[in-house]
Amino acid sequence: MKICDLCEAQSMKARNGRPHEFLIKVDEPRIFKGSKPRGFEEQDYECLTCKSKFTHSTDKNGLAWTLWRA
Ligand SMILES: [Zn+2]
Repeated sequence: MKICDLCEAQSMKARNGRPHEFLIKVDEPRIFKGSKPRGFEEQDYECLTCKSKFTHSTDKNGLAWTLWRA
């Protein structure tokens, strides 16, 4: 399935970029308490328009917005 324009833009967003208006949260955030000074969180989102799935991570070493293609 083709992803919508909002999701295309979302995949380019930086760590502090907000989810677009049709992205809804899926499940609870996952909390990682690693050995680093601070842990990080991951939150899954799904688009109501095109059903694309994203994971948003606050991990400094990873991508902010990861798009999972169906
Ligand atoms: Zn979408």
